[in-house]
Amino acid sequence: MEKIIFLKYGELSTKKDNRNFFIKKLNENIINSLEGKVDVSYDYGRMFIKPHDDNFEDVIKHLQNIFGIHEIVVAYKDEDKELETIKNNLKSLLQEKTFQTFKVEVKRSDKKYPYDGMMLRKDLGAFILKNIPYLKVDVNNPEITVNVEIRLTEVLYYFESIKGLGGYPVGTQGKGILMLSGGIDSPVAGYLATKRGIKLEALYFESPPHTSEEALNKVKKLAQKLAIYNQDIKLHIINFTEIQEEIYKNMPHEYLITIMRRMMYRIGAIIASRRGAKVLINGESIGQVASQTLTSMSVVNEVVNIPVIRPLCCFDKLEIIDIAKKIDTYETSILPYEDCCTIFVPDHPVINPEKEKAREYENRIDFDEMIYRAIKNEQVIVVKNKNQENDEFADLL
Ligand code: ATP
Ligand code: MG
Repeated sequence: MEKIIFLKYGELSTKKDNRNFFIKKLNENIINSLEGKVDVSYDYGRMFIKPHDDNFEDVIKHLQNIFGIHEIVVAYKDEDKELETIKNNLKSLLQEKTFQTFKVEVKRSDKKYPYDGMMLRKDLGAFILKNIPYLKVDVNNPEITVNVEIRLTEVLYYFESIKGLGGYPVGTQGKGILMLSGGIDSPVAGYLATKRGIKLEALYFESPPHTSEEALNKVKKLAQKLAIYNQDIKLHIINFTEIQEEIYKNMPHEYLITIMRRMMYRIGAIIASRRGAKVLINGESIGQVASQTLTSMSVVNEVVNIPVIRPLCCFDKLEIIDIAKKIDTYETSILPYEDCCTIFVPDHPVINPEKEKAREYENRIDFDEMIYRAIKNEQVIVVKNKNQENDEFADLL
């Protein structure tokens, strides 16, 4: 018998026409993420992964960070499909385990196999009972489920499985631009969008000298956490200082945030179109702050045509924090460095801004020129998956 890992696709296998595309992409993502460490092969129902140096634990850890995998199973494979061999294999595998109760499940994808599933289940159950003393069958709540899969060219044996992340393989839904600040919300929004198969690029607005190098490093660190699920992430860094100072000098203060966010959206949409991204993604959550009331959102949103996805729009803050902790961004997000939004916060931001007013204020100044300059001067860095590279930003914070 050969020890291997196989994956169950879960939701992916329900995608009729796209199924092949989804599975191909998953295969590609796994090969990229585990470069040189595994051999991968697949068919419609299963993907098989053979770790090169039998380092199963390390490979499983990687697989647990890849979207599109429903279950990860460590199995034993034998090409000999004789019933006698199946029994002997089960006996030797089960003797190594300590358990009291079990049930047998048989999956028979080889429809020409001479025995049917029901008969096999009974026969194998009886064989186990006879050969391993003091075991009992418990069909409702067994300690161990003995799974036997009779496939065309082999039999698979397995006893437990590890839950995968689920979702869709990254890239199957194209690309999105995540507006990534240093806060708690936007990394979580990015994670959830990735889960649906969107490959992220990140966009950060900095305002030096009002924002520090540490604030930027914090964003790089957060991008690195998201790169675990994205292979790597392109981080676009836009110098927002000129625009922000002009807004501060010239716009009524209650509209500072509204107009600032309209500028961010405009820049985001231009970068998205240049990068071939289909959506903007951000961490807005309805009602969380003045700039996230439905009215504010619609006044800000009117400046772009591209769809804006807000994965957290209906989440409570505590639910968001739970996910942030789970994906290990929380501790970085709560580091105290100032974000460009927090520096220019007015005392009384308007809660129900008006589109006409926002347009009129903006028209007082030629922002187009400044937007053009900001984009022309963007810096782009590629943040690597920390699994592949050393943690290059760890020392910077
Ligand atoms: P977060 O916790 O993600 O910072 P927040 O609750 O502080 O969010 P805002 O500051 O109003 O909310 O920002 C709302 C969203 O706008 C953020 O979630 C993020 O997607 C985007 N955003 C805010 N500031 C920046 C920035 N400096 N660079 C890029 N995107 C930003
Ligand atoms: Mg913020």
